[in-house]
Amino acid sequence: MTETYDVIVVGGGHAGCEASFASARLGARTLLITMDMEKIAQMSCNPAMGGIAKGQIVRETDALGGYSAIAADKATIQFRMLNRSKGPAMWSPRAQCDRLKFSRIWREKLENTPNLDIWQDEVIDLILDGGKGGGVRTVLGATFLAKAVVITSGTFLNGLMHLGRTQWQGGRMAEKASLPLAETLRKMGLVTGRMKTGTPVRIDGRSIDFSLTQVQWGDEVEARFSYLPDVPRPLKRRPCHIVNTSEATHEILRGALADSPLYNGQIQSIGPRYCPSIETKIVTFADKSSHQLFIEPEGESTNEYYLNGFSSSLPMDVQVAALKTIPAFRNVRIFRPGYAIEYDYYDPTQLRHTLESKLIDGLYLAGQVNGTTGYEEAAGQGLIAGANAALKVQGREPFVLSRDEAYIGVLIDDLVTKGVDEPYRMFTSRAEYRILLRQDDADLRLTPRAAEIGLLSEERLALCRRKESLIAETLAWLNACRVTPDMLNPYLESVGSTPLGQGMRLDAVLTRPQVTLRDLMDELPELQAFSDGLDSSLRDDVLECAEIRLKYAGYIEREKLAADKLRRLEEVRIPDNFDYASLSSLSTEARQKLAKIRPVNIGQASRIPGVSPADVNILLLLLGR
Ligand code: FAD
Repeated sequence: MTETYDVIVVGGGHAGCEASFASARLGARTLLITMDMEKIAQMSCNPAMGGIAKGQIVRETDALGGYSAIAADKATIQFRMLNRSKGPAMWSPRAQCDRLKFSRIWREKLENTPNLDIWQDEVIDLILDGGKGGGVRTVLGATFLAKAVVITSGTFLNGLMHLGRTQWQGGRMAEKASLPLAETLRKMGLVTGRMKTGTPVRIDGRSIDFSLTQVQWGDEVEARFSYLPDVPRPLKRRPCHIVNTSEATHEILRGALADSPLYNGQIQSIGPRYCPSIETKIVTFADKSSHQLFIEPEGESTNEYYLNGFSSSLPMDVQVAALKTIPAFRNVRIFRPGYAIEYDYYDPTQLRHTLESKLIDGLYLAGQVNGTTGYEEAAGQGLIAGANAALKVQGREPFVLSRDEAYIGVLIDDLVTKGVDEPYRMFTSRAEYRILLRQDDADLRLTPRAAEIGLLSEERLALCRRKESLIAETLAWLNACRVTPDMLNPYLESVGSTPLGQGMRLDAVLTRPQVTLRDLMDELPELQAFSDGLDSSLRDDVLECAEIRLKYAGYIEREKLAADKLRRLEEVRIPDNFDYASLSSLSTEARQKLAKIRPVNIGQASRIPGVSPADVNILLLLLGR
């Protein structure tokens, strides 16, 4: 069997789903090949989307017309806006999801997406023909041809799993590893390395004594991931529960370190520093007598619970014995043990900002294969790789997001400019323009850009424009409204804010940190009436954006200025064939790094570790600036 497509996406994880969906949305005939259709968009680890900085990425995929946010909203069983007590740059949505429903919702979407076919099979070989054509061969003997291929094979390439001293090949628990494709990519000359990740036990809820846990419900008033106001969120809400380990737990874990693949030399590769296993925690933080664990439901109605914070590859009986030291788990039964997995990844400095390989034209890589960790990071990359693969096939301009537009821009720029030496996860601290990358208005930043290239519909663009105009209307109203001391002073005094000495514009009052729009509505019937008159489906989003813009106007302006300065450096392009080797005025380290990364502009060059401001000045001079 031989068939021809425009774009082939290999792997139906979070990266592959967004990649194939983006490519098809752009009108490219797209084929998604994945090993097991039952596992599309499988959450391999925790049943949750979002979290600090990751939640912003999910919002961005939605603003670009992706589906991860909608799938998460539809599958939500608990929603929390993290970091509410901090400034809005830090607010990060997170949803506990029904793992199986999340997967089913994605699959249903992909099955009904025009221009997209799905084929269950294993890709074992790539056919590459210098960008003019290429394709893949599969284990079932099929050949699919396409001008662009996107590899999103996650932890499956040369996957090797560890549970105590037991090791076996696999891509994920109970799934086979992808060995021939790993071999093909190695032979093609891609620079590869090994990384490691791990997951905790899944517990049978019937064996947990919940009366000995601390209950944690989600937000009473829920926000959501998608900017679309009408996404149904039908699932029952469920709480998480908190327990703590004790010295007794640590004693058992410590006593078994000789059987830990992490400490007996069995695992050589580096794991995610910010998601350490419980055995790593008791070694690294030896003075801590207790660690908090979160018992997270895996779905709306299942008895299966994910034990967040207890990732482990210690032998099964050790995992269970350690759990039994925790009162709520005295009679614990588990469904599946925790385990670790080592897998191949590819040095992402081999990629362009479009996630196309610099070495092999028409080959794109996205997700865990680029050394990242997390569903959100994978989804964001997948969307960009899939869109660019389609655009390339169509002979159109690439679609790249900058560092001041999106966390996805920060993520990809970090990957292709700095590379990775451990699994990369997103943090707000990685972004220099966090106040510009807030979760409340990713749609206003990105939806018009996505609409420009056809990544989303005119209706979505119209919705975004409507939100923008309602924000402007709200700001104008607040600016025009004057309040007098007698209207507000009792309230201002009650929240510890200086009383007014004379009349003041309402927008000026709102810039005070103690004052909130919601409180003001209780004090000022005319404000409440104005709010009631806003389009109810957009009202909360509009008021949130308007308030943030007023309160943080100074910071926003300052970051915009800094971003504009950087943009000027980004506009100084460096020719593809620029000869760094002959530039003796550059430091040796800078020469080598620049020749390896081949930055596309001065802005990117300035971010390469080892390239100093002096080197950048020399480059600017040589480029006639
Ligand atoms: P995946 O979700 O892995 O999807 C890859 C897809 O490719 C699969 O559908 C597979 O069937 C398919 N595939 C592979 N090879 C082929 C082939 N040759 N032909 C056809 N199809 C193929 N993330 C965290 O953020 N924190 C954690 O603590 C964490 N722990 C993890 C623990 C484990 C044990 C595992 C397995 C993953 C863990 N992750 C964790 C990682 C998280 O699951 C990934 O970051 C995320 O799923 C990556 O998405 P992806 O789309 O790149 O790959």
